[in-house]
Amino acid sequence: MAKIFCVANQKGGVGKTTTTVNLAAGLAKVGQRVLMIDLDPQGNATMGSGVDKRQLELTVYDVLLESASVAEARVRSEKCGYDVLGANRELAGAEVELVEVERRERRLKLALAEVDAQYDFVLIDCPPSLSMLTLNGLCCAHGVIVPMQCEYFALEGLTDLVNTIKQVHANLNKDLQIIGLLRVMFDPRITLQTQVSEQLKEHFGDKVFNTVIPRNVRLAEAPSYGLPGVVFDPSSKGAQAFIAFAEEMVERIRKM
Ligand code: ADP
Ligand code: MG
Repeated sequence: MAKIFCVANQKGGVGKTTTTVNLAAGLAKVGQRVLMIDLDPQGNATMGSGVDKRQLELTVYDVLLESASVAEARVRSEKCGYDVLGANRELAGAEVELVEVERRERRLKLALAEVDAQYDFVLIDCPPSLSMLTLNGLCCAHGVIVPMQCEYFALEGLTDLVNTIKQVHANLNKDLQIIGLLRVMFDPRITLQTQVSEQLKEHFGDKVFNTVIPRNVRLAEAPSYGLPGVVFDPSSKGAQAFIAFAEEMVERIRKM
């Protein structure tokens, strides 16, 4: 049975998509079977996995509206070594269309049950909001990975997410927990970042992943080549960090 993780943080630009595609590629590199699901209508994780969102006939939108199965809508990214359930602008409409339907927050969970046995990991890239789309992700996940930058307001922004996760845990998904906080875009030369990083560890203890993702230009360049940094330049510092993170995740799920 696959372990399912959402990469979530209601802030935009904090590294969710970068984390999702690079962790997926890192896990694939260490021999894990991975499905990456793009739940953001921007489709960045889709494009960043070498899949052209404009060419997709079926996407996660069709799965949420039950007009396609995951097996029908997923595509293989050969370059990246994992499967992709993609998204494009069409997904923005799902928010409204789902309002009318039953079990609207459980659509993805039900759909995933059919392919669960084919993967070790399912990673879900969430949009920068606590919307019905994110809720669908949280309802099917075992855990949430929260990428965060070590900045002054980092902790403050976490409160809403933590509250949402508590509510989903209480009402919809007993399995859900925060697996960990991932420090991303880290620059040790910036004193404030080192301080916030220490605060995070004091506050959250072993909920903070050991791996730290450095700010690295190769990670930022990779999406324009339609690749995760781990595939684009595997020897770069950023890629190496994500491969280490993949190994840390494999270790963590052994204990789950
Ligand atoms: P989100 O999905 O949360 O909106 P992204 O993953 O798209 O965030 O990242 C926002 C921007 O920061 C992107 O341009 C991305 O390439 C860049 N970025 C993310 N992580 C790193 C990193 N570790 N080093 C350098 N640039 C990064
Ligand atoms: Mg994103």
